Amino acid sequence: MMSFLDENFLLQTETAQRLYHEHAKHMPIIDYHCHLSPKDIAEDRKFKNLTEIWLEGDHYKWRAMRTNGVPERFCTGDADDFEKFEKWAQTVPYTVRNPLYHWTHMELKRPFGIEKVLKPETAREIYDACTAMLQTDEFSVRGILKKMNVEIICTTDDPIDSLEHHQKIKADDFGLQVLPTFRADKVLAIEQPEAFLPYLQKLGEAAGVSIDSYQALQDALKKRHDFFHENGCRLSDHGLETIYADEFTEEEIKAIFEKALNKQELTQEEVLKYKSAMLVHLALLDHSRDWTQQFHLGALRNNNTRMMRELGPDTGFDSIGDFDVARPLSKFMDKLDNSDQLAKTILYNLNPSQNELYATMIGNFNDGSTPGKIQFGSAWWFLDQKDGMEKQMNALSNMGLLSRFVGMLTDSRSFLSYPRHEYFRRILCNLIGNDVENGELPASEMEWYGQLVENICYNNAKNYFNF
Ligand SMILES: [Zn+2]
Repeated sequence: MMSFLDENFLLQTETAQRLYHEHAKHMPIIDYHCHLSPKDIAEDRKFKNLTEIWLEGDHYKWRAMRTNGVPERFCTGDADDFEKFEKWAQTVPYTVRNPLYHWTHMELKRPFGIEKVLKPETAREIYDACTAMLQTDEFSVRGILKKMNVEIICTTDDPIDSLEHHQKIKADDFGLQVLPTFRADKVLAIEQPEAFLPYLQKLGEAAGVSIDSYQALQDALKKRHDFFHENGCRLSDHGLETIYADEFTEEEIKAIFEKALNKQELTQEEVLKYKSAMLVHLALLDHSRDWTQQFHLGALRNNNTRMMRELGPDTGFDSIGDFDVARPLSKFMDKLDNSDQLAKTILYNLNPSQNELYATMIGNFNDGSTPGKIQFGSAWWFLDQKDGMEKQMNALSNMGLLSRFVGMLTDSRSFLSYPRHEYFRRILCNLIGNDVENGELPASEMEWYGQLVENICYNNAKNYFNF
């Protein structure tokens, strides 16, 4: 019997073990998409206890706790920190076979060095031990990042952000690059005038442009894009149900934007035309700066109206959607490629039944300019687990080139999520190890598989992005 979480965890063959220990394990981490707080890194925050660093903001855990019958008071409510932790510890044994079970124990092991199973009997001891460690410099935000061998982090930022925290981090030069990512979701949300118009005001202030026309909006975005570029940004990101790729003319968009500014109601058709135009505009900015554009597609968000009203978004009430993807994705990328202005692109899919669709879609627009120019992104959110990662890598292997994959990212809000890279690396090495031991790959090429593993863990991302 293999044992839980030992050095060969998830590595079922000797070849997998060699690939992991000799090649994957020591590679630094490039976390090219996450939601960590740049302010916390700039201030080198120390967390006051394990609940604060581990449960606050973690909607994956809240969702499991609610499913386990834990009242909201212990998830997002006013229970005290240890009470919340206790409820989590009571829930953990019930998370068997959910990735939370693996993540929880991997995160206790690294960085804390705790190898005990978390359950009600061990809750107090583990809480106290971790909380004590969190008071030391070694376990400040920067301490943890160094311990986890993180080399580059890309946060997710709004175009109106001053990037002051990124600037402070850069000035401190503490041995780790923290770069912003341009995420302009709010610029697309023209259908919500109560948020859209005040946002335009702020965007205008940030850019020093009075946004009184569509042209002025484009000018403001260009200025912010330039500013982000000066501050090291090389990526954009979009969180969308699907790509919008309706036909439009510049004249139509100017008129639609004018209507929005005048608080006139827009038709659904007008909304979609505007979103389609804005996506193209942002894509062209990315191309002009040789950035990589990312699209996180397929989430059906805020399903629970009552909880949305009480807690707001990103609190654990989202699920996988089934939107029409293939045709709009094809149309959007084709439009950009047609004038040779398609930037490097990463497509993240949330609906696993569409894995093969994505894996074949990327092949339509690879043009030999950059290896793996169009990427099928790492298994995301609900799919960020063993089965989901295996399925994503199998689809990519079968229909594209796994060897050119830029690999894993955490997409996390927590500084304790870095073992997810280790999890991914073990799963990757296990897949290749199995193929070798089954005679599906020649054992004579071990040196190449080692290189390939190192590439997917680190080198491909290093070469792909212009950090
Ligand atoms: Zn994200």
